[in-house]
Amino acid sequence: MPHQGRIGRVVDSGPVCRLGSIDAIVLDVDGTLYRQGPVRRQMALRLAAACVTQPLRTRRAVRAIRAFRDNLETIRTRLQENADHPAQQLQRTAEQTGMSEELIQSLIEEWMFKRPLALIGGYPRKGLHKFLGRALQCGIRLGVFSEYPSEDKLQCLGVRDPFSVVVSSCDPEVRRFKPNPAGFLYAARQLGSRPETTLVIGDRDDADGAGARAAGMRYVEIGGREFPSFVPLCRYLFENEPTSS
Ligand SMILES: [Mg+2]
Repeated sequence: MPHQGRIGRVVDSGPVCRLGSIDAIVLDVDGTLYRQGPVRRQMALRLAAACVTQPLRTRRAVRAIRAFRDNLETIRTRLQENADHPAQQLQRTAEQTGMSEELIQSLIEEWMFKRPLALIGGYPRKGLHKFLGRALQCGIRLGVFSEYPSEDKLQCLGVRDPFSVVVSSCDPEVRRFKPNPAGFLYAARQLGSRPETTLVIGDRDDADGAGARAAGMRYVEIGGREFPSFVPLCRYLFENEPTSS
């Protein structure tokens, strides 16, 4: 068992490198496919610069983004079963900031979704493209599940094609934030896979990991000490792939 010490983050007792038992992988996007730290730092600099040219709108954007992100985390910890989480996030942000939902949507769209696209493509996590290609070669179907719509991010990273399924918490079929299992289960169904043969890869154990466990799926964390990039993860997952299957 040469890898026994490296499967601490895998949920079940079976080694995840036995890819004969995995037919689908669902990946998180932000912080998983690309490095979120440098993107956020550069966006903070751009917000600071915009404070000079558009002070009112930019100050509102800063307040909206902060409240919007905080509310995601609050809703994540409460996870009311029958609530529409993205609607709750927008409504709470409007109440807290005193801004209209339309203005918040416009500011979030501009500063959290559109402007970062120019940066995201510059920070793919190392080994991403090779990892996805190797998975496809092994006959594994690929999907993403993110809190926010991610089509444009995938395009910027040059990895839209490998994914046959793109799921967001904002999709009408989901409307739940991680770690609620709804989005993970929906993604697996769309991939034609069962939970027990689906692997989740993410960068947050309290969101991606807890969601995978709630859905009955295996989980591997990326970005930490064990797998800082897709290079060691690719080696780990695929080097022991049975050659007969
Ligand atoms: Mg993430």
